[in-house]
Amino acid sequence: MHADLVINQSLQAFNTFGIAASASHYVRVTSVEVLRAALADPVLAAMPRLVLGGGSNIVLTGDFKGLVLHMAIEGKQVLEGGLLRAGAGESWHGLVEYSLAQGLGGLENLSLIPGTVGASPIQNIGAYGVELKDVFQSATVFDSVSGELRTMTAADCRFGYRDSVFKQPAGAGLIVVEVTFALPVAWQPCLGYAELANAVRDAGLTAPLPRQIADLVIAIRRRKLPDPAVIGNAGSFFKNPVVSSSRCAAILADHPGLVHHAQADGFEKLAAGWLIDQCGWKGRSMGAAGVYPKQALVLVNQGGATGADVVALARAIEADVERKYGVVLETEPVFV
Ligand SMILES: Cc1cc2nc3c(=O)[nH]c(=O)nc-3n(C[C@H](O)[C@H](O)[C@H](O)COP(=O)(O)OP(=O)(O)OC[C@H]3O[C@@H](n4cnc5c(N)ncnc54)[C@H](O)[C@@H]3O)c2cc1C
Repeated sequence: MHADLVINQSLQAFNTFGIAASASHYVRVTSVEVLRAALADPVLAAMPRLVLGGGSNIVLTGDFKGLVLHMAIEGKQVLEGGLLRAGAGESWHGLVEYSLAQGLGGLENLSLIPGTVGASPIQNIGAYGVELKDVFQSATVFDSVSGELRTMTAADCRFGYRDSVFKQPAGAGLIVVEVTFALPVAWQPCLGYAELANAVRDAGLTAPLPRQIADLVIAIRRRKLPDPAVIGNAGSFFKNPVVSSSRCAAILADHPGLVHHAQADGFEKLAAGWLIDQCGWKGRSMGAAGVYPKQALVLVNQGGATGADVVALARAIEADVERKYGVVLETEPVFV
């Protein structure tokens, strides 16, 4: 058996929802060699597998009977030409802070997103008008089928809204071990998101620096989102549904207050939080799972919630939103 293998590892401290569940087999992956050795073991390689980062975008629905590969590959460095490279196990926000300390702008709008660098391409993390794809250069991935390392470009990753090839069958078996970011050489603030633009204006900043934008983003996020260290959650639980403009107009006719944002492709993105709030869910609970009182998009663990509690609450919300608006909500976290 593999030297780094742990049998029956609790995962409660490894998921930000704080759900109590365990993994039958667990390896902390501190290097590509550890990864390669674990998957060279035919017993481990044949098991169901969960690649785990910071556990901030998963819902554990029960004990995991299989192999958890907990990504802990460290290292970050600035390369020439505005490139930044980091190991999959580095903290995302730690990397943002590191880049700012080196005087590099480009990641500031993505400050304080929990999780690891290795998971950042999986759902193409995004916040305040910037997505990972805007700063992504390439990823080094371990292909667990061939046992080879390979480099994937942005085109290979097929980034979409909270989506990438890694969430699709074509990307199954790919494990991100390192990511390289291309930061803008001629940095410009990205203030397309109204809430951030207003914060910059209210702070009296006419020519904001990356560090100042990061501090404003951090302040906004601390105000709006629950800290997983205090109350278990996985951030936004539902994606903002994207509908055709005619569908949006039809909903608006019945519900003039609908919050929607026109997309470049002619579609409309609806604010899922608004839909959920209008269905009366904000602040409500079902068992030990609840809807965060300050942000209806966030489901929280009020203490002792099981994965089943969270799933039951999510399903009840989805049913209400579909009944009232005819809109099908899609969940953002991965159910394990
Ligand atoms: C309070 C809070 C706020 C959040 N805000 C945002 C936000 O603003 N924007 C946003 O986009 N997200 C947000 N999220 C969601 C989450 O932070 C991101 O999705 C983050 O990238 C998940 O990283 P992780 O390391 O915790 O991944 P995990 O939760 O551990 O894993 C998520 C998925 O990625 C896969 N995975 C993880 N690492 C790897 C790897 N190295 N190779 C291959 N697959 C891998 C896992 O198998 C799983 O399918 C928020 C979450 C919380 C709790």
